[in-house]
Amino acid sequence: MAHLPFTRPLIKISGEALMGSGQYGIDPQALDAIARDIADLANSGKRIALVVGGGNIYRGLAGSAKGMDRVKADFMGMLATVMNGVALQQTLVRIGQPATIYSGLPVPTICATFSRDAAVEDLEAGKVVVLAGGTGNPFFTTDTTAALRAAELGCDSLLKATQVDGIYSADPKKDPRAERYDRLTFSDVLAQDLRVMDAAAIALARDNAIPVVVFSLHEQGAIGKVMRGEALCSVVGT
Ligand code: UDP
Repeated sequence: MAHLPFTRPLIKISGEALMGSGQYGIDPQALDAIARDIADLANSGKRIALVVGGGNIYRGLAGSAKGMDRVKADFMGMLATVMNGVALQQTLVRIGQPATIYSGLPVPTICATFSRDAAVEDLEAGKVVVLAGGTGNPFFTTDTTAALRAAELGCDSLLKATQVDGIYSADPKKDPRAERYDRLTFSDVLAQDLRVMDAAAIALARDNAIPVVVFSLHEQGAIGKVMRGEALCSVVGT
């Protein structure tokens, strides 16, 4: 396993990762462990942007499947990501890691609305930049937000934390013959319809030549380990 050469990663943390072993919401221990992992990485000199999801609280698609207006449901999903973002940013600050938060969905009482220039300034100053509120638009996901913000902020990689240690030909939890890939091209992912991120996110990463690293967040210190080449991952590139 090789050390990953990236110095300015954008890390996508799904809402589920914040649930820990729970079924809903935010588990303080899981939150703390993720924040410490990120703070360690920031202390090693990496410039880190974080996009946080909201699936531990609310997903627009699930709401609309139960009869909710899709646009309103997506706004609720975006608000869920703001809750997670505030929790992450506050935890980072509490453990001594300077961090700021921006929201793509304007919620000015809670935090500043996303500004590319301000976020870049914060990154350069060594602050972890938490990006909540998705793109601010319904019908998108936080995976697409991650690819978009990575391009806007000049990030050199997109690290997608998942439940498994890379990309497989099939779900390894259901199919024991599933093959794990170390390296793939964006075209492989799109052509084989591998469920890494949604197609819009993959296309954005491809068009902006931002490698996507898929890894498991299960182990303690997982993000640092994958960066140092001490944990498995799959890398999607051109
Ligand atoms: N969402 C949205 N626009 C965006 C990003 C997110 O409408 O640009 C909404 C959407 O309803 C989504 C929810 O926010 O279901 C939570 O995001 P996501 O499902 O990507 O979270 P994750 O699965 O990563 O926890």
